[in-house]
Amino acid sequence: MAQTFTTTGLILKRRDYQENDRLFYVYTREHGKIELVAKGTKKITSKLNAYLEPFYLVNLMIAKGKFFDKLANANVIKNYENLRNDKDLVGFFIINYLTEIIDALIVGQTPQNKKYDLLLELLDILNEQIKKDIPHKKEFLLMLTNIYALKLLNFLGYRPEIQRCLICHKAILLTKNIFDFSRGGVICEDCKKVCLIEDYIKVSDSVIKLLQLAEINDLKYFLDMEANLPETDEYNKVIQRLLLVNMEKPIKSQEFYKIAS
Ligand SMILES: [Zn+2]
Repeated sequence: MAQTFTTTGLILKRRDYQENDRLFYVYTREHGKIELVAKGTKKITSKLNAYLEPFYLVNLMIAKGKFFDKLANANVIKNYENLRNDKDLVGFFIINYLTEIIDALIVGQTPQNKKYDLLLELLDILNEQIKKDIPHKKEFLLMLTNIYALKLLNFLGYRPEIQRCLICHKAILLTKNIFDFSRGGVICEDCKKVCLIEDYIKVSDSVIKLLQLAEINDLKYFLDMEANLPETDEYNKVIQRLLLVNMEKPIKSQEFYKIAS
């Protein structure tokens, strides 16, 4: 009999494979991102299909295989139904955005512990917040998601420098700084005058403060914060450009953000 093991994970995406089967990409705590073949799941009669929607958190029983490990059984732990059923499509956008980030940034089958736990914490928070009547909800939920994204970049060793100027190493004074995406951090006004810097935007003091707070506080810290539109938009833009540099491909789900309300 084939060797089997169980694990829990978040289904990222699936694609058709051979005549009747599908391949599933699952993000797990213990094994990183894994690829599994699920026999017969292309048929609508397959019982497994009910448990295998993208962004379901599932228990999986897996049989070791020669080319692909095989999915033997699955059951759903959580389906984040508020995000999934959000009529304004903000939840749909966030699910797609997170899928792209994880798919691009998480490589290899290594234990994910903190990164994985942080993602599940984010999903629980978003699944609750999306039900509420919050001003500028779309921007606020994207900000929370981008705080997770910044923490993920830190875990992966792509931490941007936001405490000191990248060039003169002096502590950042809150006035007229820029964010340099090719070097990955903040540069002060004096250094900006004497250096050739191409890929940058000006960052306001409140966004630098938010970047600094995001680095040291957990996600719950930000729940009482109200979205201040210019600042939240600016913060989201900085993180998205930072993600672009590190993902090395465009974030397609940004199109969904435009149509979500
Ligand atoms: Zn400087």
